[in-house]
Amino acid sequence: MAYKITDECISCGACEAECKNEAISEGETIYVVDPEKCTECVGIAEDSRCAEVCPIDDCCIADPAHKETKEQLLEKWRKLHPGEEPAPGTY
Ligand code: SF4
Ligand code: SF4
Repeated sequence: MAYKITDECISCGACEAECKNEAISEGETIYVVDPEKCTECVGIAEDSRCAEVCPIDDCCIADPAHKETKEQLLEKWRKLHPGEEPAPGTY
């Protein structure tokens, strides 16, 4: 399930650098997540890095509109990082 950023975002930018899939960018009013690149941090970290570093509670949340299995998320990660191996314990 890709993550999304809610309207609570204060545009601090902390999440953008944390996303190793480069899925987060600055939008017109708040930061936004590209669901084609977000793997829920599968392949990267045990927990979602954007949610970990965000100073606002429940601002980076799983998006029910983009439901995916762990296998689908891992496949997405592999397409984004050809030739690399996912970090152990993240999938
Ligand atoms: S959950 Fe992970 S991959 Fe998805 S936007 Fe947040 S930091 Fe990026
Ligand atoms: S860390 Fe949170 S508040 Fe800061 S830009 Fe990202 S989503 Fe917005």
